[in-house]
Amino acid sequence: MNKKIAVGILGATGMVGQHYLRLLENHPWFEVTYLAASSHSAGLKYRDALKQGWHASGDMPAAQADRLVHDVADIKAARNQCAFVFSAFDMPDKDAVRAAENEYAQHMPVFSNASAHRSSPDVPMIIAEINPGHLSIIPQQQQKREWKGFIVVKPNCSLQSYLTPLYALMKAGYAIDRVAVTTLQAVSGAGYPGVPTLDMIDNVVPFISGEEEKTECEPLKILGDLVDESFVPYEGIRISAHCNRVPVTDGHLANVMIGFKDKKPSRDDIISIWKSFSAEPQTLDLPMAPRQAIIYLDQANRPQPKRDRDSDKGMAVSVGRLRPCPLLDYKFSALSHNTVRGAAGGGILNAELAFKKMPHAFA
Ligand code: NAP
Repeated sequence: MNKKIAVGILGATGMVGQHYLRLLENHPWFEVTYLAASSHSAGLKYRDALKQGWHASGDMPAAQADRLVHDVADIKAARNQCAFVFSAFDMPDKDAVRAAENEYAQHMPVFSNASAHRSSPDVPMIIAEINPGHLSIIPQQQQKREWKGFIVVKPNCSLQSYLTPLYALMKAGYAIDRVAVTTLQAVSGAGYPGVPTLDMIDNVVPFISGEEEKTECEPLKILGDLVDESFVPYEGIRISAHCNRVPVTDGHLANVMIGFKDKKPSRDDIISIWKSFSAEPQTLDLPMAPRQAIIYLDQANRPQPKRDRDSDKGMAVSVGRLRPCPLLDYKFSALSHNTVRGAAGGGILNAELAFKKMPHAFA
């Protein structure tokens, strides 16, 4: 590619926004040219808008430090400065987030981390290894809403760890109909500054508002079918979730029990399916794709957030402890990096996938 595509980050000062800047610093296709956040940050240089400092690993990208931050509401500036945006801003009112993303989509593609559009029937919710075909709704979305751009969302960070391993088994012909999952979620999942220190040290908080509902419902849309002009949720699986906040900085761990509908694979079959699982991001050799989407760890005490969250740029899902379950059929542990695979990295991968499959939609 001769010239890189100019991209904007909405919510550039936040936890996820900073990871976007970090991961896009030397991206072969995309170049960050536009930054936006709340009206409090607007008009400031990026380095000064980071009131709480730089939290992502490494240093703040030097090319962004003096860039002027715009108000997310300033769509005119975005139209002049970038071809599409990653949306990672937050507002107390979900309707306001949806309205702002709609405004952008009138003019350019939007790849969103927010939950506002996840249940919109014509908005694809993509995990690139699972449902890349759902992008085919985009022409209909554009036509119906009279948008030049479009919106693609990624799911909640709580389900990135376990859904790809489940999907790999389903794709290999083993229908799973029951899932019980307990997540142990990092504090960075709540943004910055997140959960107060005194609530987190020496503690586990067994409640994260809205998280269990998302963990149980969002997989059904991702595994669902595109019928006519909307997604029909998959009905063949029941998921029950407990979501806990734990004193870990990054990396959501999930302890999972699964039951098969009829045919039950052996333990060796399952491990072999996971180890050999490959999907469109790997076939297309997308820059952000992990080379191996699922890494199986044989050690009895893995995966662990501290040791395994950064596997393959933080984009691989690490799985281990597969063993028989006396209640359902099998149980295992799975881990993914919440602010990378579950947020900025996943958003970038979705944009790469969309760009590779339909470059004309970015013109
Ligand atoms: P965060 O650290 O709290 O950052 C929030 C961002 O939104 C900041 O850039 C902030 O700008 C901006 N913002 C706040 N109020 C605004 C307003 N009224 N108008 C425009 N911008 C506003 O949150 P985060 O963790 O990065 O999360 C951002 C989004 O990603 C959320 O929708 C979240 O649910 C989602 N997400 C987060 C994770 C994760 O692991 N953290 C994972 C998946 C998805 P200022 O600095 O100017 O206030």
